[in-house]
Amino acid sequence: MAGLCAAARARELGAEVVVLEKGDRPGGSMRLSSGFIWRHRDFDRFRSECPDGDPALQRLIFDLLDEGLRWLESLGAPVIARDTGNALTCGARFDTDGLTRALVAAAGEIQLGEPLRELPRDAPVLLATGGFQGDRDLVRLHVTPEAEHLLLRSNPWSAGDGLRLGLAAGGRTSVGMAEFYGRNMPAPPARVSESDFVPLSQLYARHATVFAGNETFATRTWSEVDVVQWTARQPNAQAWYRVANERLSERVRERTVAELIAGAEAAGAPVERTENDVTVAVRAGITTTVGGLAIDPQCRVRDGVFVAGADAGGVMAGGYSSGLAAALVLGRIAAEEALSG
Ligand SMILES: Cc1cc2nc3c(=O)[nH]c(=O)nc-3n(C[C@H](O)[C@H](O)[C@H](O)COP(=O)(O)OP(=O)(O)OC[C@H]3O[C@@H](n4cnc5c(N)ncnc54)[C@H](O)[C@@H]3O)c2cc1C
Repeated sequence: MAGLCAAARARELGAEVVVLEKGDRPGGSMRLSSGFIWRHRDFDRFRSECPDGDPALQRLIFDLLDEGLRWLESLGAPVIARDTGNALTCGARFDTDGLTRALVAAAGEIQLGEPLRELPRDAPVLLATGGFQGDRDLVRLHVTPEAEHLLLRSNPWSAGDGLRLGLAAGGRTSVGMAEFYGRNMPAPPARVSESDFVPLSQLYARHATVFAGNETFATRTWSEVDVVQWTARQPNAQAWYRVANERLSERVRERTVAELIAGAEAAGAPVERTENDVTVAVRAGITTTVGGLAIDPQCRVRDGVFVAGADAGGVMAGGYSSGLAAALVLGRIAAEEALSG
């Protein structure tokens, strides 16, 4: 998303832009996402939920998101809902196919199947490759020794190319290198394909007893990102959610816990039922890494080398905030700064 937003904004400002896309389609993980682009309603809440993140970058995202959302709509991106369904946050939900189409139309020509491999010498460049979750070695090094057991709940191409290029250009890593955003998903032998990433998310740890072996874990956040990161460090990146029968009717967005469990069971996850409760095996799915390249408020690692989206590390460190919001706001700033010199 960050790359398309930056390209669209740069063209709007009169620049010529070349967009390289490693994958065989545009849109990256944005296209696979639920499309909620949001911020906390209150900046102090953002700080307290993501206490280790860079306050200057968080301030930019908080202050500039609403303008960014209006800009997306002005490009023709279709809004499905004007709220997030969460009293702590505000923003909008976009249809992600329509959002991709609108950004692609504004970004100009996109060279598909063309990874950025080295930095150009004669023009500013934006690194926006979407994080390093697709590289098992980097995930093992920074996030968890159980890296090979994680489900890759992301586009398959975000494998740390931006991080490597930025470090080679003299950049340094940000805070939050051990953290990631993701969801617990049905455990093997369940089969989970790209179109299942949203509907099969097992987002009801707050209604369950979560355990792995003799360890238990109580989630402390509405986003449940803490329980996913904990699960990722358990053997085989797996855990169990035990839900008492009386909690099965609790709602998670538009569905009940019972329906989410039924989805996991239909996909093939181990599920055990007693007369009192239901227990489901889950494994951690990694969506985007939280750490990446440290950037300044102009989105630079150095003169001429800009970074945005999940490659720009540390925005949500210590918690969870909208990756789409960070990509939108920082992508637009990077374009403006690249053209201001
Ligand atoms: C199932 C799912 C649900 C989600 N739901 C939400 C949500 O509701 N709200 C929210 O805020 N976030 C959500 N996210 C996360 C959100 O999608 C990401 O935070 C966001 O897309 C990150 O933006 P990005 O530009 O960094 O990466 P991406 O959008 O993934 O774009 C990165 C692009 O870079 C390309 N690339 C990689 N390497 C290279 C290279 N060397 N050269 C050229 N191109 C390269 C990739 O192919 C990709 O197209 C969700 C993600 C998923 C998968």
